Amino acid sequence: MVKVVIIGGGFGGVTSALNLIKHKNIDVTLFNKSEGFLFTPLIADVISGKLKKRDIIFDIKKNLGSKIKAINKEVDKVDFQKKKIYYDSSNIEYDYIIIAIGAKENYFGIDGAKENCLKLKTVYDTNDIQIRIQEALVDDKNENSFVVVGAGATGIELAVEIKDRIDYYKKKTKQKSNLKVLIIDGNDKILGPINNDKIRSIVMKKLLKKNIDIKFNSRVTKITKNYVEINGNEKIITDNVFWAAGVKPNTILTEPEIVDKSGHFQVNEYLKIKGIENAYSIGDCASFIQEDKPLPDFAQVAVKQAKIVSYNIINEIKNKNLKKFHYNSEGFILSMGNTAVAEVKGIIISGKLAWIMHKIVYSIKRIGLKNQIRTFIKLIF
Ligand SMILES: Cc1cc2nc3c(=O)[nH]c(=O)nc-3n(C[C@H](O)[C@H](O)[C@H](O)COP(=O)(O)OP(=O)(O)OC[C@H]3O[C@@H](n4cnc5c(N)ncnc54)[C@H](O)[C@@H]3O)c2cc1C
Repeated sequence: MVKVVIIGGGFGGVTSALNLIKHKNIDVTLFNKSEGFLFTPLIADVISGKLKKRDIIFDIKKNLGSKIKAINKEVDKVDFQKKKIYYDSSNIEYDYIIIAIGAKENYFGIDGAKENCLKLKTVYDTNDIQIRIQEALVDDKNENSFVVVGAGATGIELAVEIKDRIDYYKKKTKQKSNLKVLIIDGNDKILGPINNDKIRSIVMKKLLKKNIDIKFNSRVTKITKNYVEINGNEKIITDNVFWAAGVKPNTILTEPEIVDKSGHFQVNEYLKIKGIENAYSIGDCASFIQEDKPLPDFAQVAVKQAKIVSYNIINEIKNKNLKKFHYNSEGFILSMGNTAVAEVKGIIISGKLAWIMHKIVYSIKRIGLKNQIRTFIKLIF
């Protein structure tokens, strides 16, 4: 049996495992340190209460079946020379390794950002956000308005979910609330990695219609408990700041140390870690350069890479040619509460139809597929 060890039970790791077990001579061990497989595209819906936590988090051991040895532990170190990984005062050897450890928030060293911001990265973060919204609604004053840092897809979805929750509460209690939601961004446009101005303009109109303000060219320079400082001289008074302004790869010790300055594993056209034998890396922790640019941190990228990596490992074992990876986007869907914007094969859809698409594509419950990671991933990608 050929031993493949996968580190990371997110989109990249789980998809790789599911593809590799189709080959009968491969023994797959998958390590994951967090609470389970988290379906991030729907995490914002948990804030507004449209979905429950259990709808978007899956126990890997229960769901992947007995062919995959799933270990809920953090890997401490990988020794590429000895082909060994170390965890929990134990170690195991591998023939091939896939590193798919994902990413965490990047605060870019901004004074007070880590200490004073709420983030949206794990399912537990949704609790903190819900509590904060509830507190602000009860003690309704301007200082409690909400500032979301980052006008990317996550920042926009988060701002919309917060605003929807405030509006819902106002309607229910007939309370006149002064609470505002503001998005700030250092750039001069929303949705940086999306190469489509028409989508940008539709999303902007929807944000303004929802009374969500946006402040561009506003570089955050400091965050305290009571204010956000922008461009070194302007203060926005708020007790509630949410960080959605960027991520950096999770870290893991390796021998030799191999990550680049930004913490990514640089991979070649076959997704092999440059300079290391029998080692691959995919998803948010890998840097794959296409047309002179790194690929965006999307689940879609990780899943497509996982399929090529599995194919390449199987072919390496059979001494066959490897496949080069090339990313072609399947499109884009942004949920905005009770509406959405989507782009599929160049066609832009907005409003209720896009919202229905988002729900059909992403909602497990409505189409009766409970806790089935495999089906879920297949359905979407
Ligand atoms: C709020 C939010 C919304 C998003 N929405 C979308 C969206 O709508 N569409 C989209 O395409 N993308 C979306 N993304 C991005 C998407 O989630 C990532 O691009 C995707 O998860 C990357 O997959 P991955 O396999 O590289 O990492 P992940 O899915 O993050 O998985 C990495 C896993 O590795 C584990 N791990 C880390 N270190 C270790 C270790 N040392 N040992 C063992 N396990 C370890 C982690 O616990 C984690 O489970 C969103 C992200 C967020 C935060």
